[in-house]
Order: sequence, then C-alpha cells, then structure tokens
Amino acid sequence: MRREITIAVEGCCHGMLDAIYEQLRVRERQLGKRIDLLIICGDFQAVRNPSDLAAMSCPDKYKRLGGFFRYYNRARTAPIPTVFVGGNHEAGNHLRELYFGGWVAPNIFYMGHSGVVRFGSLRIAGISGIYKDFDYAKGYYERPPFRGHARASMHHVRAYEAFKMLQVRRPLDIVVSHDWPVGIERFGDTEGLLRRKPFFRAEVERGELGSPVNAMLLERLRPAWWFSAHMHTRFEAEVASGDTFFAGGWAGVAPYGGTAAVGQQQSTGAPRNEDEIRIGDSDSEDGGPAPAQRPRMALNLPPPKHTAATADPEDAPSPVKEPQPSSADQPQPPSPEPATLSDPRVPGRATRFLALDKCLPRREFLETITMTVDAPDDLPLQLEYDAEWLAILRLCTPHMPLDQASFVPPRHLLLPAEISPHLPLFSDQVVDRETRWVGRNVMPHGPVYVPPNFVPVAPTPDPRTHDSVSFGMAAGGAHGGGGGRGGGGRGRGRGRGGHRGAGRPPYAQPGGHRQPQDAEWVGPPPHVVYPNPQTDEFCQMVGINDPLTQRR
Ligand code: 5GP
Ligand code: MN
Repeated sequence: MRREITIAVEGCCHGMLDAIYEQLRVRERQLGKRIDLLIICGDFQAVRNPSDLAAMSCPDKYKRLGGFFRYYNRARTAPIPTVFVGGNHEAGNHLRELYFGGWVAPNIFYMGHSGVVRFGSLRIAGISGIYKDFDYAKGYYERPPFRGHARASMHHVRAYEAFKMLQVRRPLDIVVSHDWPVGIERFGDTEGLLRRKPFFRAEVERGELGSPVNAMLLERLRPAWWFSAHMHTRFEAEVASGDTFFAGGWAGVAPYGGTAAVGQQQSTGAPRNEDEIRIGDSDSEDGGPAPAQRPRMALNLPPPKHTAATADPEDAPSPVKEPQPSSADQPQPPSPEPATLSDPRVPGRATRFLALDKCLPRREFLETITMTVDAPDDLPLQLEYDAEWLAILRLCTPHMPLDQASFVPPRHLLLPAEISPHLPLFSDQVVDRETRWVGRNVMPHGPVYVPPNFVPVAPTPDPRTHDSVSFGMAAGGAHGGGGGRGGGGRGRGRGRGGHRGAGRPPYAQPGGHRQPQDAEWVGPPPHVVYPNPQTDEFCQMVGINDPLTQRR
C-alpha cells in the first residue's frame, strides 16, 4: 500500500537534541501531522560523559556536555525515530563502538561509518565524517587512547568506506553526508550562497568546496535526495538525470590524483540509464565537458588477473563458512553470462540536494519533506536491515584496512577494467551471491527490523547535570575529563556497573552552589572504547568478524 510519510531533516546537531525535538513538535502542530523520521546530518555529539568529551575533536572552549547523555541513560526518550551520520565533531570513541551502525540511545540510530538501512520501502544510505586528502587512503590505524591528531583523523572519511558505498547497485532514495559533495554549489543559487558566505568564493572558483568522495558517490548513486550540513548554511540544488556531476573516478579523488570536480550545470538531453550499463564509456554520450577538460584517469590499481566473466564465482573467498548449506548453496558452475553491472540510478530521476544549518535561533536548520513509501497504513515504520548492504559488508569486511597503509580493493572480486575503467566495482554476480546468502541466513522470512537492542555500556552523569557543564575542560582546566579512580563501567565493563545503575552520582556536588565547570567526574579514563553488544550481535548475524575488536 502506498502511503505518504513526513521526514524531517536537520543540519548539525551539536548535542542539542532537546531543542531539535521541541522544534519538531512545533512543526508537527503547524503541519497538523506526525513526523515519521528525523535525519540528522552530523556533528551529532553523542557525548555520554566527560571521558567522551575529552576524546572529542574540538577546541576545548566548546567542550560542553550537551543534552545527549539523558537520552543515553533513558532519562529522556527520543519522540521520533532518528537516524544520523557522524560529522567532524563527535564522541569518536563512542561511534567507534558502533562502527557498523547501531543505537546510541533508544530510537536514535547511528548509520555507521557508512551504511544503508530501510525505513518502509525507503532506502537510506549514510557516510560519516569529512574529507581530508591526507587521511583518505589510510586504514583505521587509530587505537584508543585517541590522542592528538587521532581525535581528528577518526572523523576523516576513508577510501574503504567510499569503496563500500560505491558497491551499492540498487536505487537509493536518500544519501546523508556531513560535508557537501564538491561542485554541488554550481547546481543551485551559487551567487546567493556566496553572498551569505563570501569566504567560500576562492574555493568555489577552484572547484574545491566540499568533498570529492561525496561527489564521486553522488555521480554513481544518484539518489532521489542528498542531505548534508557542515557549511552552516541552507542550500538547495538539483542535479538533473543527464548532468555530469563529477568526471573523476576513483583515481580522481586525492591522494590517488588531484580532485576532479566538473561542476558545469549542463543538461545533456537523454539520460543514459540502461538497466545494465558500462561505466566509463560515457564521455561521448553524456555531452559533459570536452574530453580535453575531463581528466581521463586510469584506475590506480593493478589490472585484474582475470575477468569476472571467466572467474569461478566461488573463487572469491566467502568471509565465513555458511552454516548448513542447502542444495541451493552448492557451488554453482561458472556463469556463462558476461559480467554485469547494474546502475543504481533511476532513469530520468534527478538528485535533489539540501544542506541545512546548525540548530540555533533564526537559522535554517530544519526542513520537512513528504515522501511516498510502500507500507501498511496503520503501523509506525521501523528501521530494517538492507540485504544488499549486508552482502557488501560480507564481501568487504575481510579486507578492511587496519593500519596506515592504503586500502587496496580486493582485486579478485572486481570487474575488469574494460567494464569499469574508473571505479573499482564488484560485478552483479559477486554481490548477488552474497545477497542470496543474506536472504537465506539473515532474512529467510522476509525483512528484518533492526532490533531494539540498545544497552548503555558507559556511565553517565546524574540526569540533573546541566548541559553546559564542561568538567573544567572549557575553562582550560587541567581535569581532562576523567582519569580519576574507580567509577562503575570502567575499562571493559558492560555498563551494568555504571553510575546510574550503581545509584552513585558521578560527580561530587557537596552542597551549596557550584559553577557547572567546576563539576568533578570520577569515572573511566578518557578515550575508552567499550565492547558494544550491539556490534557483537550484528557481526554474528552477518557472519563477519568485527575487525576493530577482533570479535564476532
Ligand atoms: P564545524 O562546525 O564542523 O567546526 O565547522 C563548520 C564551519 O566550517 C562552518 O562555518 C563552515 O562554513 C566552515 N566550513 C566547512 N567546510 C568548509 C570548507 O570546505 N571551506 C570553508 N571555507 N569553510 C568550510
Ligand atoms: Mn562540521
């Protein structure tokens, strides 16, 4: 059954959930209808306690607790299902616990460093972090305790996440990122933007405002909507179905080569949207800039050993042993069909871009959008896992880079360069095989809801603690957010011994009035990453190991 739902989009959150939900209530009254889902585009600041605050990458003067911890310790409940991606100011240690995505509080879902979930029939993808060329090619080398540059670099998007997102071959309705796709400003009111933000002009002229990774992903994925934040201004744009948005491929994203945005707003007539397309033969078709202007970048990878057409489909190592294979699981003979590559774009569909501001008075930080979904009329929608994404995780996770060395795509799984010269992509056959595994083993009875399996694993301050408490950090104090002795939930605790559970206030407030920044915290040392049972359950379900903790 087709049904209309209302989605709210918010720009940067900065720990201001109370204010955002209050605004949503106002908006619901104005609209006279319920808002079904809230999407937050980063800088969420899921700060649970001063230890998280100490790990957060931001100048000390901004280190305030914020209101999130009351959602974490269940003193408050998010009134609307909420999903978010990470930005550049996060409790990075907290989000690291939920690398594959998960609940940071009841009803508030982190989409992971990258991820795809479903909401009814909507497919929503997210990519966390911001683009910095010097960290892009690195693996996840950061380990707790996160100090110095690691606190910032944890939020820098990695080639590995871009690679995973590129493998999505079925249409997406929404993609959420924190920073803008580079070049997007040319597809809207550029001059209006520059009037509001004149200091963007030089970067706009150089084609360097925003993320080339997001541009590459927008070019390939062409969702119906792309939402971002980070620039602290509202901006709308539309990339028509026939436009060339980004001409650089994988190698066009530094450090594999220079950035290569081609932002001319050039409508090019007939969209090229066959069901099965050959990526890379499009220069002459799409009427984009003349070839001389367009960097023809070779895939910066060794050529594949053999083509996917002749490869044994079982050649690719399956990340885990399949439990009890049925007859349908028996090795298939090599497919006689040529390797194919589905196009995630919907023929004729434009991508609409919307960026929003942060939550402050008189700023444009919130917008509601009506969308149509396939769903029963009476049931509130819930988040569901996405089979194709779980298949991509099964294929990619064994190759997750865990040190400083460049990510190397798993060459033996890639399409030959004749089919995909600019992007390292799996063939349909490779992804379909794992998607069938997911169908049999994860969703044998149809769609699977993301279980409401949130449990707090870190201690929190007393719910009465004021949001503006800085625990001495904002004052430039030496406290540094913990390091004190004792405190429930310390180290590898599972949270059951947290302060709240233990009924012991986390900071001493011995009578009389105290300035918030004077609050003391006796808790875990800063930069703790707790083992999170949500991640354990997820890895178990998908049949992968969690490379960051080596646990399943
Ligand atoms: P944040 O809140 O993440 O620390 O920073 C956001 C601020 O940085 C905003 O004021 C935004 O306008 C600015 N900003 C974000 N990305 C860019 C960029 O690529 N170029 C310039 N000039 N400013 C940026
Ligand atoms: Mn930001």
